[in-house]
Amino acid sequence: MAFSLRIRRYLVIFLITGWAISLAYFLLHSKKPRQPPEAPVRLYRDNRLLMGTFWEVVSPRKESGPIVFTEVKRIENLLSKYLPDSEVSLLNRAGKLKATPDTFYVLKRAKEFWQESSGAFDITIAPLVELWGFTGQKYNLPSEDSIKAALKLVGCDKIILHEKDNVVEFKFPGMKIDLGAIGKGFAVDCAVKILKENGIDSCLINAGGQIYALGDKSGSCWKVAIQDPRRQEISGTLELKDQSVSTSGDYEQFFFKDGKRYCHIINPKSGYPVNSGITSVTIVADSALEADALSTAVFVLGKEKGEELLKKFPRVTARIL
Ligand code: AMP
Ligand code: MG
Repeated sequence: MAFSLRIRRYLVIFLITGWAISLAYFLLHSKKPRQPPEAPVRLYRDNRLLMGTFWEVVSPRKESGPIVFTEVKRIENLLSKYLPDSEVSLLNRAGKLKATPDTFYVLKRAKEFWQESSGAFDITIAPLVELWGFTGQKYNLPSEDSIKAALKLVGCDKIILHEKDNVVEFKFPGMKIDLGAIGKGFAVDCAVKILKENGIDSCLINAGGQIYALGDKSGSCWKVAIQDPRRQEISGTLELKDQSVSTSGDYEQFFFKDGKRYCHIINPKSGYPVNSGITSVTIVADSALEADALSTAVFVLGKEKGEELLKKFPRVTARIL
């Protein structure tokens, strides 16, 4: 009796152990329901030469490229100083113009940045840009007298903006404007607006270093490499979402004369190319127009005064090389 009881106990233990082993085996080896692999989001790339710059558009929506390029072409037709029928060319020839709301808006914002930067950012710099040969890339060292004469035509206080009818007027004949430091930024903002109106919420626009990251790239920020222009190497990366980056530097256009380097950004106070000890300024801002204007302004002002200016824009960050 005692024997059969022991056998029965062993039998129960044996059965329970066997059952436990089978369960463990089943749990380890049973096939888990397979998650379907996440399909990588396809990104479309498109590029075009506009406003004298190579534009690149990256987006999961194929139509983003054509939407951006059509809008940028529209803005180029208004703001380019190289197109004879643009509003800027008409104003530069006639000294007075009834502008479209877009052109008027850019001029108004340009005048605000002139005020904020104590005159370092100045779109009336055009006569000096021409004098130094940066417009047609026929560089030369102008005489002191010609610089002094051109400086008389410089200053945004010499532009009158009639808000009620969008009329723009120059105070003196011979004045000219150059939107090279703000126009591309404005064009990027306009393109982003049109993309949003078309229901597109993910797109990266790169207009020769003038960048806007719309939304995100399949759930993560857009990663943008920042190049050290003098060394031709990557000096860092930025993660962006609904932000713009703009870089101004002395490497874009320059010439050497008697061992001295002269760059395309002119100091409106002296009439000479900027020599502030900075090689480049990178600005991250919410809008491309702001990033564009501020990168040029800080480049002119130099590190100390530039950082002082940026205190007025608490959402803006900067990298000064
Ligand atoms: P960015 O590359 O945006 O810094 O713009 C440089 C361009 O702006 C130059 O090629 C000129 O056409 C124009 N520019 C030069 N000096 C100034 C200045 N002090 N303020 C505004 N625009 C300028
Ligand atoms: Mg600029």
